[in-house]
Amino acid sequence: MTFEDLGLSPKLLTAITAAGYTEPTPIQAGAIKPALTGRDVLGIAQTGTGKTAAFVLPLIELLSRGRAKARMPRSLIIAPTRELAAQCAENFEAYAKGQRLSMALLIGGVAFGPQQAILDRGADVLIATPGRLLDHFGRGKLLLNGVQILVVDEADRMLDMGFIPDLEKIFSLTPPRRQTLFFSATMPNEIKSLIDRFLNDPIRVEV
Ligand code: AMP
Repeated sequence: MTFEDLGLSPKLLTAITAAGYTEPTPIQAGAIKPALTGRDVLGIAQTGTGKTAAFVLPLIELLSRGRAKARMPRSLIIAPTRELAAQCAENFEAYAKGQRLSMALLIGGVAFGPQQAILDRGADVLIATPGRLLDHFGRGKLLLNGVQILVVDEADRMLDMGFIPDLEKIFSLTPPRRQTLFFSATMPNEIKSLIDRFLNDPIRVEV
């Protein structure tokens, strides 16, 4: 299998070549095509398997048409820690180079002002930790009902960190007809229950 076989655009194929990747990893080979067709994806994969590109690449492809409206992001990536969110943002910037997609990284420990300014201009993608995202929401400066694609990265770590109530709130603030790409390294019962409630007939890809 090659990246060309997955149905990615020439722009993304160029970015993939620039990153030095020659072939998709198993999680990428299994997740990207169904994600591009609009299916929900349940990816069971550890860090180091290439899972970030497995959701960032189709996200960019799906968003590459249309523009963001102020305060109504079109997609949202939730990650448990600042470091992981920042890593997703780095991946996004590398793969979306040359495309007119705007991104806001919403993590704690830094000022609200600059994050708010980007939200006000309109972001296609929000990459956020649960707490800071809900802080922005609570300030009334952010609407999540325009979110078409929701990505959850390392859900089992969110469980360990006590973020399940925040995650449930975030799911319920986004439209029920969104597409969801959900990644977890393990499947404890609390995570299974979230999947049953919030994913729609997902394709399961386990590596
Ligand atoms: P991740 O599991 O997303 O943290 O990715 C682990 C590492 O694999 C990162 O350094 C990526 O840049 C790299 N990577 C992702 N996809 C590929 C690929 N198809 N071929 C080679 N390396 C990759």
